[in-house]
Amino acid sequence: MLNIVIFGAPGSGKGTQSDKIIAEYGVEHISTGDVLRAEIKAGTELGKTAASFINDGKLVPDSLIIDILASVLDAKGKDIKGVIFDGFPRTIAQAEALNSMLAERGQAVSTVIGLEVDDEELIKRIIARGKTSGRADDNEETAKKRLNTYYSQTLPLKDFYINEGKYAKIQGVGSIDDIYAEIKKAIDAVK
Ligand code: AMP
Repeated sequence: MLNIVIFGAPGSGKGTQSDKIIAEYGVEHISTGDVLRAEIKAGTELGKTAASFINDGKLVPDSLIIDILASVLDAKGKDIKGVIFDGFPRTIAQAEALNSMLAERGQAVSTVIGLEVDDEELIKRIIARGKTSGRADDNEETAKKRLNTYYSQTLPLKDFYINEGKYAKIQGVGSIDDIYAEIKKAIDAVK
């Protein structure tokens, strides 16, 4: 079972590259951001709680996200080739929860694809995406808050996964296909 974590700041290309990985390896996509946006659209209580954090560039509390992840993972069933985790984990607590969840299922994280992009480029990409994404958090002010959140709460995960020997550093700037070629090498090395 191929369990890939795609990791990087907002705007680093996680969604774009996830699509290519799914097309090639047939893994299931779990994007916690997509799950939360669907809840917001459906007007659920969870969606209402999540929106207040998302629109302020903050993380949704770990307990909520970990529960969501567990139920989405269970819903995928056992007959799958693997999963790409997109936008999860975002904190050390979430990474530890993911390790436990996978261990309970006799599995582990196979590799962490770390897309590295400089801040200036990230902000530029998020603002450009905001013109078509319809996402309330794709504007300059919220993007800057999201980047601060990323540096303080999510980036520590890079060392967490380096220590586990699972971090594959990928230069996330250049053509989509060239970046993907590097990702493919990293995935094939653990397949
Ligand atoms: P994304 O689509 O991954 O950029 O996520 C959009 C927003 O949803 C983030 O800025 C967070 O507010 C929230 N979110 C998504 N995934 C998580 C997560 N794993 N932990 C906490 N908050 C999350």
